[in-house]
Amino acid sequence: MTSRVAARPLPAPAPAAAIPLAEIAPWAVFAAIVALILLYFVSTEQGAFALFKGMYVHEFVHDGRHLLGFPCH
Ligand SMILES: [Zn+2]
Repeated sequence: MTSRVAARPLPAPAPAAAIPLAEIAPWAVFAAIVALILLYFVSTEQGAFALFKGMYVHEFVHDGRHLLGFPCH
């Protein structure tokens, strides 16, 4: 018994539709702002630059701080 399905060529994939830059730009700006806020909390949120009292934020992102090579302790 032979399979005839495997002998057929596969249809060519449809080309991907291009997304206009004007539709991506606001989301790119939003993602950049969120990334900068997260980077602030990982890199700078401690000591004199702390926005929140205590060490909760610092301890929460502590492993990320060491992973990214920011000075810590
Ligand atoms: Zn540390």
